[in-house]
Amino acid sequence: MGFDRAYVNIHLDRIEENMRAMQRNLAPGVRLIGTVKADGYGHGAVFVAKTIDPYVWGYAVATADEALQLRRHGIEKPILILGVTGEERYEELLRQEVRMTVFQKERAVRLSGTAVRMGVTARIHIAVDTGMSRIGILPADPGAVRLIKEIAALPGIEIEGMFTHFARADETDKTAALKQLRIFREFASMVKAEGLSIQICHCANSAAIVDLPKAQMNAVRAGISIYGLYPSDEVKKAVLHLQPAMEFKSVITYIKEIGPGTAVSYGGTFVAESPTRVATVAVGYGDGYPRSLSGKGFVLLCGKRAPILGRVCMDQLMVDVTGIPEALEGMEVTLLGRDGGEEITMEELALLSGGFHYEIPCLIGKRVPRVYIKNGKRVAMMTCLDGEYEEAVYSPA
Ligand SMILES: *Cc1c(COP(=O)(O)O)cnc(C)c1O
Repeated sequence: MGFDRAYVNIHLDRIEENMRAMQRNLAPGVRLIGTVKADGYGHGAVFVAKTIDPYVWGYAVATADEALQLRRHGIEKPILILGVTGEERYEELLRQEVRMTVFQKERAVRLSGTAVRMGVTARIHIAVDTGMSRIGILPADPGAVRLIKEIAALPGIEIEGMFTHFARADETDKTAALKQLRIFREFASMVKAEGLSIQICHCANSAAIVDLPKAQMNAVRAGISIYGLYPSDEVKKAVLHLQPAMEFKSVITYIKEIGPGTAVSYGGTFVAESPTRVATVAVGYGDGYPRSLSGKGFVLLCGKRAPILGRVCMDQLMVDVTGIPEALEGMEVTLLGRDGGEEITMEELALLSGGFHYEIPCLIGKRVPRVYIKNGKRVAMMTCLDGEYEEAVYSPA
């Protein structure tokens, strides 16, 4: 199959290997929750979910629409929405047995009302704020345990889980994370002492899966590690071997020589000092390639690094191929991933662009097709036409 501009490869076998690597690191009986929010960190939530399905107890997403998308595509395991859900979504989510995060009395009462009216049970997870100050019950609040008891007593509500989220588990110094863990454990035992039995307690994100085995409790929420990235450079990478699943590629559409004094791209921020061979690449910030890489980034061509000349445009950018005479029009360009002995990682792109490595794959745009690869073969593709993602089974042309 030929692509005439930017596209993404997703290696599904690497995702599977990442899941197996994590599974080996978990104590027996610990459930894996696969975090596939933000369209599976830009990898395509549906394809990722189907790939990791045998390894997970269920899924975590950020929004109601993300949960419903998984259901529409046949995902049957539990799905938990990690954020706060508006009451206008309760009914359709309950119909699809989607778990919601609840920790406010008012919302719990309304959810209970909807569940009773529908004749169903709403399974919820209680968020506990142990130090992130984002969402959740504050354990220091004198009414905290009573609030959980009141929620548990509401008709049509079953508290299936309780969770907290680490703010600093990815740092070498685990003091803050251990403090959060201690607060969460103490709170969980207080709740238990009140006679409430909550099936699933979870707090570990990828950083804790790698670095804090004692935070596993009875479930962990894997996110970035599914996709083969480490949460930070400070975690013990040797503990868990992860392989990045995503490659970002494009194509050289045009090559020319420019003479000294010729400017390249908007603003003329690069001016050639000597004869320069310039390749135009069909990718830009409209595809999610960071514009902040203007004049600083690199792409890989023929296993070599070619620096970006001048500003990244919306749909195209120019690179210097003076030192790569073998580069030709129509050749593949690697924006992210390996080419021969060279590699550009999410971490390097994040560093160069002043962003964050989690952010890079999330920002790759909808007009960039995702091609799914298994055992070296293209098995499926996802494109976005008319504002809707469409899956296509890849058939070699
Ligand atoms: C995003 C998220 C995760 C996953 O975090 P990673 O660092 O990607 O593993 C887990 N839990 C919550 C509450 C999240 O918001």
